[in-house]
Amino acid sequence: MPLDDVRRRIAAAAERAGRDPAGITLIAVSKVQPEDRVQAVLDAGHRAFGENRVQEAENRWAHRRQSHPDLTLHLVGPLQTNKVNKAVELFDAIQTLDRAKLARKLAEAAQAHGRCPELFAQINTGEEPQKAGVLPAAADAFVAECRGMDLPVGGLMCIPPAEEEPALHFALLAKIAARNGLSRLSMGMSGDFETAVELGATHVRVGSAIFGARDYG
Ligand SMILES: *Cc1c(COP(=O)(O)O)cnc(C)c1O
Repeated sequence: MPLDDVRRRIAAAAERAGRDPAGITLIAVSKVQPEDRVQAVLDAGHRAFGENRVQEAENRWAHRRQSHPDLTLHLVGPLQTNKVNKAVELFDAIQTLDRAKLARKLAEAAQAHGRCPELFAQINTGEEPQKAGVLPAAADAFVAECRGMDLPVGGLMCIPPAEEEPALHFALLAKIAARNGLSRLSMGMSGDFETAVELGATHVRVGSAIFGARDYG
């Protein structure tokens, strides 16, 4: 199945870069995909999935958690502050920490729940006005602000502009992470995950290359 092909391509890219493929987490982004395709990937033994909406993720995954306690769920879409509590309950990782107000709410929710999902600060590497994320120039201060709230930011995430060379954005993200002592890099999607692996991605978010094209109907 396409999942195996994606895994092979990740391993080959890691090898080219002299990296251990075991250091790269493949997140299968299942948003909008029909249940049968998602179930097939789950049945094939894959356990890390990404969703971009809290409600959709709850509908799809809450019951599956009972039978698959080893699932890991990543939120890869924007998080509204009124959904923070639900997100902290449901997700193992939140990749879209993109503003101070959200950081404060997450810190409160983590305190209340006694646990905090793994957090990635989203960086708007292309400085696109319509896109979420902290601007590169504000990234260091943002990471420091989160740390000041005892919020454990573990890595950075980016979504490069569609029409630009992704490698430049991946390299920028890696540089910002390195100077902030962050070891995790979530970068690379269906069209560019091999490049991302070569540039240090620890997490790649792959949807259509695994499940087929999304049908937004
Ligand atoms: C949808 C989505 C992906 C997966 O995109 P594909 O191109 O289908 O691999 C990855 N990351 C984010 C943030 C997404 O919203």
